[in-house]
Amino acid sequence: ILLDEYNKKSVETVCSYCGVGCKINLSVDGENVLVTPKQTDDKYNSLCVKGRYGHSYIFSEDRLKSPLVRKYLLDDGKKDLKSEFIEVDWDTALDIVSKKLVEIKRTFGGDSIGFFSSAKCTNEENYLLQKLARQIIGTNNVDHCARLCHSSTVVGLIQSVGSGAMTNTMDDIVENASTVFIIGSNVTEQHPVFGVKIRRAVMNRKINLIVADPRYIDIVDFSDIYLPIKPGSDVALMNALCKIIIENGWEDKDYINERCENYEEFKKYILSINLDECVKVTGIDYEILYKVAKKVALEKPTALIWAMGITQHNHGVDNVFALSNLQLLTGNIGVSGGGLNPLRGQNNVQGACDMGCLPDVFNGYQRVMDEEIVKKFENFWKMDGDFKLSRVVGKTVTEMVDSLNDKSIRALYIMGENPVMTEPDVNRVVESLKNADFLVVQDIFPTETSKFADVILPASSFAEKEGTFTNTERKINLIKPVIKPLYNSKPDLFILSELANRLIKMLSLKPMGVYAKWDYESAKDVLDEINATTPIYGYAKYERLLNGEDLYWPVYKETGNETSILHQKKFSRGKGKLHIVLNKPPKERPNEEFPFVLNTGRELYHWHGGELTRRVKELLKVCSEPIVMLNTNDAKSFGIKDGELIKVISRRGKIIGRAFVTERLKSGEIFGNFHFPDGNVNKLTIKALDSVAKIPEYKVCAVKIERVG
Ligand code: SF4
Repeated sequence: ILLDEYNKKSVETVCSYCGVGCKINLSVDGENVLVTPKQTDDKYNSLCVKGRYGHSYIFSEDRLKSPLVRKYLLDDGKKDLKSEFIEVDWDTALDIVSKKLVEIKRTFGGDSIGFFSSAKCTNEENYLLQKLARQIIGTNNVDHCARLCHSSTVVGLIQSVGSGAMTNTMDDIVENASTVFIIGSNVTEQHPVFGVKIRRAVMNRKINLIVADPRYIDIVDFSDIYLPIKPGSDVALMNALCKIIIENGWEDKDYINERCENYEEFKKYILSINLDECVKVTGIDYEILYKVAKKVALEKPTALIWAMGITQHNHGVDNVFALSNLQLLTGNIGVSGGGLNPLRGQNNVQGACDMGCLPDVFNGYQRVMDEEIVKKFENFWKMDGDFKLSRVVGKTVTEMVDSLNDKSIRALYIMGENPVMTEPDVNRVVESLKNADFLVVQDIFPTETSKFADVILPASSFAEKEGTFTNTERKINLIKPVIKPLYNSKPDLFILSELANRLIKMLSLKPMGVYAKWDYESAKDVLDEINATTPIYGYAKYERLLNGEDLYWPVYKETGNETSILHQKKFSRGKGKLHIVLNKPPKERPNEEFPFVLNTGRELYHWHGGELTRRVKELLKVCSEPIVMLNTNDAKSFGIKDGELIKVISRRGKIIGRAFVTERLKSGEIFGNFHFPDGNVNKLTIKALDSVAKIPEYKVCAVKIERVG
């Protein structure tokens, strides 16, 4: 740790909330936190309400202050979730964790243990978590919340263009696009500073803005064309646009000839689809579809932007294929101002993916099924004796939770995630967690999940540690500590290193490979190892970041960085592939008993499971309880007034929230969030998974409503 950085009055670091990754000046004065935008980052000095006023959680009284273990563990007794938590020192806690993990590994094998990494932790910490899982425990059971937000993007884009990340930068889009098409992304609330930049581009450069979303979200006010599509109809929409483009000869023929494959089969299929049926499925008139197709194809470059409205479906990968098709057909990828631009959610969800916290890839998306790659890592991380890494793809977060029930997973190690708030159908998760033989939660606060833990390890917040975050546009940013770790908390990097060294000793392993040891003294030491083992981060050196260089991966060169726009000359997979995709219905549709479609998402003033923002009094002043949006006519027919409490019920659970009666969504649709435990919409959502990416369908399930009075 850079001790000389601690307790400075102010440091330049990165906002801890969303994937935009705004650079901030973070100052502390006693327990007061002041955040201002880094002066040179954005000439308008924008930060959103969470970035500017949402960091007082650092000093929250609720912070975990000491390691906690259940008393039964100290007494060498049987697992007992009624046993109270006792404060212990770090040695005691880590000795217990390592002893239990070794016991379970020896008895049931490494694959009986699962690891959740965290999109809120640094790249270095995520790298270490997957290294610990793979090198020491011997399992690929490592995953994180990207499974729940953009796994379908990663899977879909890798198969269509060869790389799962945003192709262009945010500044490139707002400075060079002629048309911006946003689908399934509430950008003004979830990536607010990028939303501001898009609005400025509309006002100042007069770009075309097209927005497709079932809800009338704020950015619609700035759009030329709004498509209020029916939930789950994205493939039908994209196929219809492709058909209109081909029928009118607006496709980019040279681009397709030179850079794409599978065009003839694709064209044959697209020309066979029925546009009247697409109009019916999407709810959008032909004339509007025609206008959109023309703008996307002819008023180029067109940047396509999406988020979870596209990905969180049981056919999320198909949705992503459909978006790629549109951009390939119109020659809008690999060009400035265009591209495929998935907006990543959390501050470091891109980085956690890059670091291999996924069950099928090592760091840098190097596949665990590729013998050559596995041998390379066996060489890097070699231990004495018959050392072998697993060649079997591990389990996803949802699968790991379910596997607690049939005991194919015995222990879970959860770093900085809260599945009891964020998984679909959370009542299922609660029951599964009770079946764990051993559960460790490492976090900065007690969470809804840590109630079921056997050991809780107090981690330090982003303000107390160093490392790197990678934002939504693949830009690697340095974070710096402004204070020492509070109370008896430790940075996750320290906790993982201490645990790994204990496990190595207990398992009598002897590190032999070039990067086998766990003797890191700083985040820089870990980043050096990441540089050496992760080709796309090869020259993302600590010194360059410290010098303020803007580095977007892949960073293949010692100097300069020309990769801010991907796929310029050729696609990462060679040619871009057009996929034939059929519109598929959601898993659960409304019926007489459950007549409403529930759509889920987030509010501007809160963040994900609310673990941080529920501890910020400034944000609670504006939004302190769960909100349920419903259409004015529906409210009237149920006698529900704006601001009343209402009950929402699905086949899996029920919640109570505050009614927000509005014309912003159509009759028959409900919208809720997952920020507050009592009103958590994930008590209602369905565990219907995309068959390839295993992302759950958070965006559509059937519910009914009742007046509470
Ligand atoms: Fe933080 Fe995102 Fe807001 Fe920027 S836009 S200040 S990164 S929450």
